[in-house]
Amino acid sequence: MQNPPYRGRIAPSPTGLMHVGHACTFWTAYQRALEHRGTLVFRDEDLDPQRSKADYATAMLEDLQWLGIRWQEGPDVGGPFGPYEQSRRREFYRETWRKLRDGGFIYPCTCSRKDLTMSAAAPNEGDDEPMYPGRCRERIGDAKQYESPAGVNWRFRVPDDEVIRFEDLHLGAQSYVAGRDFGDFVVWRRDDVSSYQLAVVADDAAMQITEVVRGADLLKSTARQLLLVRALGLPVPGYYHCDLVRDEAGVRLAKRHDALSLRTLRETGKTAEEVLRMCQVY
Ligand SMILES: [Zn+2]
Repeated sequence: MQNPPYRGRIAPSPTGLMHVGHACTFWTAYQRALEHRGTLVFRDEDLDPQRSKADYATAMLEDLQWLGIRWQEGPDVGGPFGPYEQSRRREFYRETWRKLRDGGFIYPCTCSRKDLTMSAAAPNEGDDEPMYPGRCRERIGDAKQYESPAGVNWRFRVPDDEVIRFEDLHLGAQSYVAGRDFGDFVVWRRDDVSSYQLAVVADDAAMQITEVVRGADLLKSTARQLLLVRALGLPVPGYYHCDLVRDEAGVRLAKRHDALSLRTLRETGKTAEEVLRMCQVY
């Protein structure tokens, strides 16, 4: 059987100015799509209404274009798999939530933020989600009583002790143990917003993405997402995780928001070529 045509994506969040650390990853995604003579999709991950700003969404399109990245589908150019803004795909995520509910994969979690901070272990570096202690796990049978996800957090029940393996196209063999490296993760938030994990898996499948290129800080999220992919019966994309760009002191560039936005570099007279050299030099 022939492989489907290459479809890659760049998926920034408009929660600030585009940062050189992220831009380097998007540049790699662009190069991978070019090498495969594939299609590159631009997806605006403006999922979080509190943190996403329309001005930043415009700026990231402009800044990546200035850098020289070109895409064939996106919020500015349209395409057959739109809309390309996550804020306009809510009904679609809700449908994915229903499938997970009906399949018995998720449960409502009523733990307060305070409950969780008191019992949870501190998250590891690069991992935004603390380990959930599992207090509401037994409520998995209650899930079908919910017509709508709003009002509680929804968690995916991970298969304890299962080893999740995948071959990263850049970093090689990876493995994580469910229930030990990560716990039952949130797929829907009580403020009625889909989690990053659910939205990304649903969108990558709907947009027929064949290869996911992103930063190595998301390796563990890939293990979580593979569980969602399996639960939903979706095709598994290839994964290519980029090394995180660090400065001379070893600090991740993405952590230094001050002077390293593309906007600032551009305004201080740097050329796109000079910015791209930062991706290799550091
Ligand atoms: Zn709970």
